[in-house]
Amino acid sequence: MSHYEQGDWEAVIGMETHVQMLTRSKLFCGCSASFGAQPNEHTCPVCQGMPGVLPVVNAQAVEYAVMAALALGGEVQPTSRWARKNYFYPDLPKAYQVSQYELPYCLGGQVTLVVDGEERNITLTRIHMEEDAGKNIHDAHSGFSYVDLNRAGVPLMEIVSEPEIRSAAESAAYMRKLRTVVRWLGICDGNMNEGSMRCDANVSLRKRGTSELGTRAEVKNMNSFRAVERAVNYEIERQAELLNAGEKITQETRLWDADHGVTRSMRSKEEAHDYRYFPDPDLLPLVIADELVERVRAALPELPDARRARFVESYDLSAYDAEVLTAGRELADYYEAAVAAHDNPKLVANWVMGDVLRATRVAAGEGEVDYSRIPLAPERLGALLALIDDGSISGKIAKTVFERMLTGSDDPADIVKREGLAQVSDSGQLEAWIAEVVDGNPDKVEDYRGGRDKLLGWFVGQVMQLSRGQANPGEVNRLLRERLAG
Ligand code: ADP
Ligand code: MG
Ligand code: ZN
Repeated sequence: MSHYEQGDWEAVIGMETHVQMLTRSKLFCGCSASFGAQPNEHTCPVCQGMPGVLPVVNAQAVEYAVMAALALGGEVQPTSRWARKNYFYPDLPKAYQVSQYELPYCLGGQVTLVVDGEERNITLTRIHMEEDAGKNIHDAHSGFSYVDLNRAGVPLMEIVSEPEIRSAAESAAYMRKLRTVVRWLGICDGNMNEGSMRCDANVSLRKRGTSELGTRAEVKNMNSFRAVERAVNYEIERQAELLNAGEKITQETRLWDADHGVTRSMRSKEEAHDYRYFPDPDLLPLVIADELVERVRAALPELPDARRARFVESYDLSAYDAEVLTAGRELADYYEAAVAAHDNPKLVANWVMGDVLRATRVAAGEGEVDYSRIPLAPERLGALLALIDDGSISGKIAKTVFERMLTGSDDPADIVKREGLAQVSDSGQLEAWIAEVVDGNPDKVEDYRGGRDKLLGWFVGQVMQLSRGQANPGEVNRLLRERLAG
């Protein structure tokens, strides 16, 4: 039996992602598709699975799906077909789910990731549309289970990737990027913890350097990006251990258990459903006209990848900074509005990525970070940064002013005046602070003069501290050098 290290194995991962579309109504009936109603409030004979009713395709869902296909570089198929996926479960009143099988509405496409500063393209196999199932409720009343069909018939897209993802970090980055794109288009709210985006990660290993696919496990039940990364990592390690011990991987579906940090077997290949797919006789083939595709294409906004490239080009940002700033459309808009207010793209980028995003996260608390709720208007950020660039305040004092701005509507210049925070550049005052520090530390002065140049930073720090951050650091630096030169 040969022995392998984990490093001898290459992880091979393919993702199946369900995206709930933000349409007003369901995929085949007029019921509301919105979340949060009383159980079964949003139902009708069609989504309750009554006999003798006929489904009608929701044009808005088709349009949203076309938007996603074009944004992801896929090929919209002029004709696709609805199929019945048959299985029995209490939350599925018709005992079949309408989906697309042999003929999905979109083939191909790609998702571009930046992981550790490196760009990677993950090819998409296909995207198809389908309806969601309802929900069983087991904890409302002991001894009884209930079924809520509000979600039954809500439109979903399933985005299937080729097995080209190579690590847990890439799996999470892939999901993040998909979320950025669907939110950017406004076709899904992207909330993984509410189930608006759900994914299955298919994970297998193969010996590095070989090309044949190994046996995979399909992992379900991850409700955050962190969960995706942890679950895939766990699964890679579990499989590597088995293979290293000379054992075989069983093809099966596994569930992520976040509390214990493990995946557990749910059903094996033998127990897998045979869905007996067949074309739905109640629905005509789906014809997507060229005019619709072209109309949707013409109305697409500038997309995240294009915007990232433009940020690198026009604002001279690093690929990493541009990636962070285009993680959401409102965030990218915010950045550009702040640059319009104060034309120093690099300084604005540093502040948006640092203090502004931190404040946005704090404002979100336990909830999802919402870029449409950045707690400081971009024009006000611009006004603050202008004070740094014209020498009125130091970057350090700017952080204090920023905090004040979050809790009121005062002008940054007024805050500076009122609180006496203006930067001191007057050499008389600076010399006095410098003298105090230099005279108080004769041993350090001796070391510095003896060749420990690095001590200059320490002296600057002391003077800044003495001035409570108000001394002009550039001037302090210059004057200190002069003074210490002896
Ligand atoms: P299903 O899961 O419905 O049987 P497929 O067999 O088409 O569907 O595969 C679904 C997903 O699993 C795709 O994302 C595909 O890339 C991925 N996949 C298929 N085989 C492997 C494998 N050996 N290792 C990792 N991922 C795989
Ligand atoms: Mg699958
Ligand atoms: Zn309905």
